Amino acid sequence: MADSPEKAAQDTRSGAAMAGPESDDIESRLSRIRIVLINTTHPGNIGATARAMKVMGLSSLHLVTPKIYPSADATAMASGADDILQKAVVHDSLDSALAGCPLVLGTSARLRSLPMPMVDARRAANQALAESGSHDVAVLFGRERYGLVNEEMQRCQFLVNIPSNPEYSSLNLSQAVQILAYELRVAAQGVADISVNPPDWEPVDDQQMEGLFEHLEQTLLDLRFLNPKQPRRLMMRLRRLFNRARPDQNEINILRGILKASQDAVDQGSKSQ
Ligand code: SAH
Repeated sequence: MADSPEKAAQDTRSGAAMAGPESDDIESRLSRIRIVLINTTHPGNIGATARAMKVMGLSSLHLVTPKIYPSADATAMASGADDILQKAVVHDSLDSALAGCPLVLGTSARLRSLPMPMVDARRAANQALAESGSHDVAVLFGRERYGLVNEEMQRCQFLVNIPSNPEYSSLNLSQAVQILAYELRVAAQGVADISVNPPDWEPVDDQQMEGLFEHLEQTLLDLRFLNPKQPRRLMMRLRRLFNRARPDQNEINILRGILKASQDAVDQGSKSQ
């Protein structure tokens, strides 16, 4: 059954006692966190990101339409973290980078660039780690020149800001990744077994949320609640509502059932006229 006292003492001395299941848990939670760089201009920033990730134990790098990649500059800046670059997945759309991710966080240098929930890096890291015990989490980083565009922010459950000088708040891209990666590591070490969601909460991914939004938009058009000439603000607000509520699989099924029943009722009404 239990190890001998000699073995236990030896394990403690060699540090192995600390590298047991707890450390496996830290590594597996960190491995479920995707760092997603969108449309990066400078390949050196991609390499520096790989390095920033590796020192903190992150390994999953996703690149959406990088301007120049692969590149010798990226490899030089990775400085020994080229295994992260080699495993990096290059995508031609954000959709594929987010596939299978129930939690998406978008980092932003600008406070309240969109009226969306905004938290600081520490809180975001705690939430990410609490969830990465059971599913994938994506953290999005924007372009060097102008960050994330509105459509990208609207794919996020909330935005993350690194507190900084309000008059000079924009960090270099890879340095922003470094701070987030550090907070993720600290959070990973602090996470025991906290779960923020009820035990029967079955996560849904970004595609299922997009499916809900499309269905909702179509139903609101069918109901003539949504004016197709002015559709954008309403859908933005509804997206924000559902992204905040984080519906699970069951709830999505109920909502889609309600939408389908509404569409059927509209169909029947127009037939009987
Ligand atoms: N000029 C851009 C900033 C781009 S900096 C803007 O105004 O949005 C490149 C990226 O680094 C940002 O898209 C964001 O992902 C990250 N970043 C830089 N500073 C940050 C900060 N203070 N908080 C959170 N993310 C930041």
